[in-house]
This record gives sequence, C-alpha cells and structure tokens, in this order.
Amino acid sequence: MEKPVFLQIRLYIGLLLAAMLMQSCAINPVTGKRQLMLLSENQEKALGTQSDPSIVATYGVYEDENLQNFITSKGNLMGRISHKPKLGYEFKILDSPVVNAFALPGGYVYFTRGIMAHFNNEAEFAGVLGHEIGHITARHSAQQYSRQILAQVGLVAGVILSEDFRQYAEIANTGVGLLFLKFGRDNESESDRLGVEYSTKIGYDAHEMAGFFSTLHRLSEQGGGSIPTFLSTHPDPIDREKNVDQLAAQWQRKVNRREFDIERNKYLRRIDGLVYGEDPRQGYFESNNFYHPELKFQFPVPSNWQTANMPTQVQMAPEGGKALMLLTLSNEKSLNQAADALLQQNQWQLVSNKNERVNGLNAMSVLAQQVDQQSQQAIKIQAYLIEYNGLIYQLIGMAYQQDFNNYLTHFNRTMKGFKKLSDASKINVTPERIKIVEIQRATTLQAALKKNGISGKRLEEFAILNGMQLNDQLAKGVLIKVVEKKK
Ligand SMILES: [Zn+2]
Repeated sequence: MEKPVFLQIRLYIGLLLAAMLMQSCAINPVTGKRQLMLLSENQEKALGTQSDPSIVATYGVYEDENLQNFITSKGNLMGRISHKPKLGYEFKILDSPVVNAFALPGGYVYFTRGIMAHFNNEAEFAGVLGHEIGHITARHSAQQYSRQILAQVGLVAGVILSEDFRQYAEIANTGVGLLFLKFGRDNESESDRLGVEYSTKIGYDAHEMAGFFSTLHRLSEQGGGSIPTFLSTHPDPIDREKNVDQLAAQWQRKVNRREFDIERNKYLRRIDGLVYGEDPRQGYFESNNFYHPELKFQFPVPSNWQTANMPTQVQMAPEGGKALMLLTLSNEKSLNQAADALLQQNQWQLVSNKNERVNGLNAMSVLAQQVDQQSQQAIKIQAYLIEYNGLIYQLIGMAYQQDFNNYLTHFNRTMKGFKKLSDASKINVTPERIKIVEIQRATTLQAALKKNGISGKRLEEFAILNGMQLNDQLAKGVLIKVVEKKK
C-alpha cells in the first residue's frame, strides 16, 4: 500500500492551469504540419514527469526484472527509430489485471500485467508499443488532454458516487485522468499507422498487431471482470484490424528485409510465471469482509455496497452513491497529527474527537463537517484513525447531513470492526500465475486446456488468453498458456 498523493494533485493541477494559459503553435514531428499545441515540448515532458509517480502509486509497478528488461530494450530500440529519437522514454509494467496500455506525454509508456498476459508473441507487443509511442511522437495528448482531464470524474469502476463525494474518491486517481484519455478517431488511426511503421522498422511482423485487435474484441464481448479499457477508448477493432493488416503489407514492401519476426515461443517463455487476474495478496473482498494478507488486517464491509480495492485506498459506497467509505493510510506519525492533517487537507471543520480502542488497537474517532462549495450541501464525516503495525489507517465515512444517521451504523460496524488478521487460511492466499505448457501429442485446444485443469466455465477465457478458438488443432510441441497457483 502506498501513501496518499495529495501533494501531487496540487502540483499537477497547477501545471495543468499554467499549461492552458500558454497555448502555442508548433510543428508536429510526425506530420510536419504546424498545429495548435496546448503544451510546449518541455511542458509535455514536465506533465509526464509529474504524473508518472501518481500512476505508479495508484497501480504499483509489477516486479519482474526479465520482463522489464525486455520491454525497456524493445522500447528504447523503437524510440530511436521513431520521429522523436532523443526524447528519453520510460517503459513500465503496472501491477493491474486490467488489459490496458497507455502513454503519457513526454515519453512515458505503460503496459498492465493484464495486457502482457494477453499478448501471444513479441510482434503483438511491438505493435501496441508502437501505437503508444505513436501517441507520444505525434503529440496527441498535447493537442487533446486539457478538456478531457478536467472532465474526469468518478473513475473507479464499480463505485458510483454522487457529485460531492467524487473529489474524495479521486484522491486515489491523481494523474489517472490521462490514463483514460480518449483520443479522437483520427489520432487513433494515426497511432495505428505509426505502430505498424515502428514495429516493422524494428523487424516485427505487424500483421500480428492486427490479430491482437480480435483478442481485444473478444475480451470486450465477454465483458465481466477484465474490461479492456484499451479497447473502450479506441475505435472499432474490426475496422482497425483490416486497416492495420493493409498497412502492414505496405510497410513490409517499403522496408528492406526478407523476414519479419513473430517470436511466439520466446514471448510465451518470457511470461511464464506472470501473475494472472486479481492478486489477492494486495487485499481482497470475501463474504462481506475485506482482508489484506500482507498488511495483515481485516474489516467488515456493508453487504451490497460497491467496492474497489486500489493500492492507495479501498473504496466502499452504497448503491445510489449517497455515502462513501474509504480506507487510506496517513503520512503522519501520531494519531493527533494524523487527525490534524486529515482535517486540514480536506478543509473539514472538527465537531469532536475522542481517543478510542478498536479491538485492542490505539485509535481516535473524529467527527467533522463541511459544506460543499458548489452544491451548498452539508456533509458529515466520521473517521476512525487506527494505529497498527507502525502505520496509521484512516477509515473515513461521509454522507449528506440528512442521510448521515442512516449510514452511521454501517460506518461504525466497519470502523470498529477493523482488526488484526491472523486466520492463516485468509493470509496464505496466492494469485494465479501463467504457466506455459508444451503439447505432448496433437489435440484440440479445448482438450489440452481440460487436461491442464482448466474448468469448463473458464474454457472460453483461456481460448481468448491464447488467442485461439477452442476447436483449434494443436500440433505436438506447441506451447499454450494455462494457470497454476503456487507461492
Ligand atoms: Zn491509442
């Protein structure tokens, strides 16, 4: 769990406003045309540099040295043949099961471990890498980001909040507005073109990039747990697939090279052992409780509330969004300091506070209020600050004044229910990991998956993960992805 990132928000917004006042005309490095740019190149770089820490704080970086080295070396190789060879790029894998890739202005490119799991060869990866570098080199975000960023609200999937509570929920999402930045159709097509160009130039077969769009398409049709946001912010995958296929053929004729790499087996070996899906070690909800096996705490969650677990906070809200409960960590060392900081940062007026004990832990309860500037609605807040294992946990509940007493029972039950987690069966949870297996004799994908313990209701999920159909024939020696659970 990371510390909150209040300060970064302020810096970020300051930068944003400064940038908006300085609109200017610049030459687009890709098209060579003059165009209105909201940001200078230095401002772009600064925006990326400011936003990167909050993205890392929000999602966490996935630690895998080999995979990290792979994306860095391919990324740098591609950066050098791009339209901005001297930019100084950074490439990161975020610890999120969501299937997504995105770029920040100034050279920051992110892949989730979810998208890394879904690539089936290096060429697919290279195509998406090229697409994201394309957004940077063609300076799409510089043209587009400002209106969008200001319109970002309530970004956490699954938790719907009324207007006044959103600002608090957004604390966890600093900088993440850029993540879900919607580029225009033209920008996306331009990035697809650049993705083909760049990946072809470093020797990969860009036809594979086209193929990856069908994986994204299948994921979005399947819906459910992992919604590919990469797709939802991008144009129709079927059209893109056709376009990219044609462009790939064109670029392969232009580039003086006889063969283009796909590197299926090499890629699959690289992701052997990659964490797949939600990682319960970072906290999980189970039968109206939240458990954190690494930080070793638990608390009850009101039944039928919507929930979201992020590295910087846990969010809970009732249907209709008229209240919000959060768990965050304080940066402060003592309960008193933490209470002061909480009130000050949020400009809440203290009503009362009291030293408490919560399941044997030192705690302080704080009652506060605030009138929302825009709606003039009075909001009441109850917070429990709890000292545990050298950290100060903040459980914060808020609701409109008139609803507050209705929600207080829920707040109290959750806050006073915070306690040490000692149940070994809740602590010793392990995530699923990708396991690469070699087919021993010719068979169908479906038979091979079943043989490797994939349950009937997950067969389609694994067909998509493998970029295949269940009735596809597999020859002896072919590698496929299945999963296993181990420490
Ligand atoms: Zn894009």
